[in-house]
Amino acid sequence: MHELSIAVSLVESAEQAARRAGARRVTQVFLRLGALSGVAKEALLFSYDIATAGTLLEGSLLVIDDVPVVLRCDACRRDVTLPGIQDFRCPLCGRPTAQIVAGRELEITGIEVEVADEASPQPTGCV
Ligand SMILES: [Zn+2]
Repeated sequence: MHELSIAVSLVESAEQAARRAGARRVTQVFLRLGALSGVAKEALLFSYDIATAGTLLEGSLLVIDDVPVVLRCDACRRDVTLPGIQDFRCPLCGRPTAQIVAGRELEITGIEVEVADEASPQPTGCV
């Protein structure tokens, strides 16, 4: 299951970004996942829970934005979104095309973090 190693590297890069931001906890990670990325979404979500254990991301939510396959069709002179990944033909004219514009994405687009402990009152007055 290579999703676990993918989840581990996602968690590592998100944790680095969180530490740079001075975060104490990551609450959400936003990921763009292309239909051609070769990653099984369910397996990735499952692996994510394992990979986040003991990190700043423990208990956080992985929010996956599914990116469909987009092909460029020379005949139609436009980019067309495929309904699936079975058939690499332009859905408009039926010609096969191998120019993939989108669908291979596997990237973190953002993280949501907690910088301070919002559950406890902030110290006021002289410190
Ligand atoms: Zn076409």
